[in-house]
Amino acid sequence: MSRQKAFFTAGPAELYPKFEEFAKEFIDLQLGSISHRSQQFKNIYQHTDEQLRELLNIPAENAIMFAGTASEIWERIILNCTEMETFHLVNGSFSKKFRQYSQELERHAHVFEKPMGEGFSYSEINVPEFAELLCTTQNETSTGVQTREGDIHKLKRGNQSKLVAVDMVSSAPIPELDFSLIDTAFFSVQKSFGLPAGLGVWIANEACLERANELSTRRSIGAHGRLPELWKQSKEYQTPATPNVMGIYLLGKVAEDMNKRGISELRKETDQKARKLYNYFDQKEGYSIAVEKPEHRSRTVVVIDTEKPSSEIINALKEKNLIVGAGYGPKKSSQIRISNFIANTPEMMERLIEAFDEIG
Ligand SMILES: *Cc1c(COP(=O)(O)O)cnc(C)c1O
Repeated sequence: MSRQKAFFTAGPAELYPKFEEFAKEFIDLQLGSISHRSQQFKNIYQHTDEQLRELLNIPAENAIMFAGTASEIWERIILNCTEMETFHLVNGSFSKKFRQYSQELERHAHVFEKPMGEGFSYSEINVPEFAELLCTTQNETSTGVQTREGDIHKLKRGNQSKLVAVDMVSSAPIPELDFSLIDTAFFSVQKSFGLPAGLGVWIANEACLERANELSTRRSIGAHGRLPELWKQSKEYQTPATPNVMGIYLLGKVAEDMNKRGISELRKETDQKARKLYNYFDQKEGYSIAVEKPEHRSRTVVVIDTEKPSSEIINALKEKNLIVGAGYGPKKSSQIRISNFIANTPEMMERLIEAFDEIG
C-alpha cells in the first residue's frame, strides 16, 4: 500500500523512505523473538553504535546508550550528573520541561529565559557559579528556534569544569556538534530519524561517568538506567534491561542509509529546503516567519505566524493529504509548524509549497 498522507509534523513525523523495507527485514529475520543476551542482539547494537558514531562523529571513548524516550534521558542526566544545581536555557515548552524535571528532582534549577521565538547567543549568557550542569536545547521544537552549535561549543569552552548537555531531539543528525567537547547529548527516533516512537538515544562522555560514579558513593543516582551500569553494558553492546530491539535495529539501518548518502550532503539538502521554505513564507501574504533573527531560525522545524486561524490552513492542507502541525501551547491557533526532516524529501516540499499556492 502506498502512503497516502505526507506528514510535515514535528514528531511523530513522516517515516524514513526505506522504513517499510527495514521493518520487513526485521520481521523476516524473526528478530522480535531473539534474546537480548544473544550474539545476534550484540551484533545489532554494535551495528547501530558504529553507524551513529560515523554519522555524528562520536569519539570511541563516549558511550551510546538506549532509553525509552528523550524525556526519560532528561531525568537520567539530572540524576546521574548533578547533586545540587543545574542551569537551563529556556525559550519554549521543551526546554522548560527539562528544567521542570530538575526541579521535581529537587535540584536548584537556575534559568535564563527568553520569550517564545527568541534564541540565545553565547555573549549574553551568565552562568551561575555553582551550576554543575548546563542544559541547552539545540532545537526548541515548540518555537522553531535553534541554538547554533558554535554558541554551545563556546559555552563549554567558557565553563570547562561544568558539564554541558545538549537536547538535539528534533534536529539530530543535522547539527554539527563537537562530541569531543560537549559532555552529553540525546535524541529520540520519532523526530528527524523518521521512525515510530519508543526509543531514546543517550550519548555521554567519561566526565559524565566519573561524575555518576563519584555521586553514587554518597547519594542515590536512581534505580533505573544508572549511568555506570548502562555504560559498562554498552561497551559490550548489552543493556541492563530488555531493550527496544526493533527500534535499535531500525535506527541502525536508517543511520547506515544516511551514511551512504553522506552527512554533509544531507545537511546541505536540509539547508536548501529550509531556505526555500523561509523565502517562500517571507514573501507570502497572510504569513510571516515567527523567528525574527535568521541565525536563530531552526533548520528542521519551520514555524510560521498566520493571519488566519491556523486550523483553517491545516484543514485545507489535510484535504490534500498534507499534514502540517499547529502552533504549540499558547500559539496553537496563530502558528503552523512544518518539519523539514530528512524524510521530508525535496519533492514533498515542492508539493507542499504548491498546495500553499492553491489554498492562498
Ligand atoms: C519531542 C521532544 C522531546 C521529548 O521527546 P520524547 O521522545 O517525547 O520524550 C524533548 N525535547 C525536544 C526538543 C523535543 O522536540
